[in-house]
Amino acid sequence: MSALWIRHPMAAWTANDQDAGNGIVVENGVITELVASGTYPSQPVDLNWDASEHVLLPGLVNTHHHFYQTLTRACPPALNKKLFPWLQTLYPIWAGLTPDALAAATELAMVELLLSGCTTVADHHYLFPNGLENAIDIQAETATRLGMRATLTRGSMSLSTDDGGLPPPRVVQDEATILEDSERLIRQYHKQDANGLLEVALAPCSPFSVTPDLMRASAELAAQHSVSLHTHLAETRDENDFCLKTFGQRPLDYLDSVGWLHNRTWLAHGIHFNDEEIARLGEAGTGICHCPSSNMVLASGICRINELKAAGTPVGLGVDGSASNDHSNLMQEIRQALLIQRLRYEADEFTHTDALSLATKGSADVLRRDDIGELAVGKRADLALFKLDELRFSGAHDPLAALMLCGASQADAVMIGGEWKVRDRQWLGGDTQALMARHREAARRLFNG
Ligand code: ZN
Repeated sequence: MSALWIRHPMAAWTANDQDAGNGIVVENGVITELVASGTYPSQPVDLNWDASEHVLLPGLVNTHHHFYQTLTRACPPALNKKLFPWLQTLYPIWAGLTPDALAAATELAMVELLLSGCTTVADHHYLFPNGLENAIDIQAETATRLGMRATLTRGSMSLSTDDGGLPPPRVVQDEATILEDSERLIRQYHKQDANGLLEVALAPCSPFSVTPDLMRASAELAAQHSVSLHTHLAETRDENDFCLKTFGQRPLDYLDSVGWLHNRTWLAHGIHFNDEEIARLGEAGTGICHCPSSNMVLASGICRINELKAAGTPVGLGVDGSASNDHSNLMQEIRQALLIQRLRYEADEFTHTDALSLATKGSADVLRRDDIGELAVGKRADLALFKLDELRFSGAHDPLAALMLCGASQADAVMIGGEWKVRDRQWLGGDTQALMARHREAARRLFNG
């Protein structure tokens, strides 16, 4: 494969502030050189690409989503509800999810993320109604076809309303089925492709949707195969109350008791932890995915990012499912993180680059990937390039800060593993209008039953 010099960016956000003022060189899907200001690539290049109107970032990494929820955005019965009643309203609608609808939702969410500069996605899929047993296979096929890096989490729910849980019986599975399919998916997809596209993690939906036995068995299976564990935890005060009532323990004590408190686990939200719990999370190296928009929409609270990071916890960023955000734009989510954290911390305690770090190196650490999330020699050539040619950027002086403060939303160009996926703000992999038409129809059918 030929060497490509992406030259003269307006700004390049590199690992450890290395000088890449004259750009980077990409070859065989990886970054092979950072070209310092006033210098040229050390080896001859075959191609060059003018980035003089672009801000160059590592591809953004999203660590929590529910792709299927793009079908129930701004859904009337669920508007303005708290988490538990919101879930109880939506589960009966989601129970009608079909393979075609999930395929459309997965592709649409991936393309929406891609256009916002995101190159790696983690999806938390835990709905397996009859006929949708192959949900993760559908997602694996879509990610592979799009050439998008994905951590597909095999979610699960085993407690229905019949057992004191929240979801209706027709969307839960028995535990033997869940574990058998989890093992099959790990063997079939986890790190099985040459380009580092697909990984698998195990992800019971939440402490209130599976039994302690399934939490333990999932942890054992994940340990056997060295894959990660993922779930929702400490999202709301109601959840703390529920865990105390049901298990006689706070959520983190419960998590610890079922063998989950270690560095192969990452947790979505992680809001309602006390100081002692934060210290334990840091010591264990358990990751947290901050989901600011979702936390604001559902009035859940504000994640204590600085205390978690100081304790040693990797903290990444996620857009969360599209029923509680309701967009899948990771660049906009960085701005949301910056703004919400300024309500908790002083302006100089949480900076625009702190917010950007969440969605890059922070998210890569949460997914335990050392090959992405930074512009540095040897990292995969996953890149997001933004132009500052809209009204909102006019008059901006610091190009990098402008992305967050003026509110960038669409990448002009996106590369994954050395291949362009977006150019001139257009997805190169298919017809966006046709995808939206298919997705809108699937959403209409799901909502109307
Ligand atoms: Zn979620």
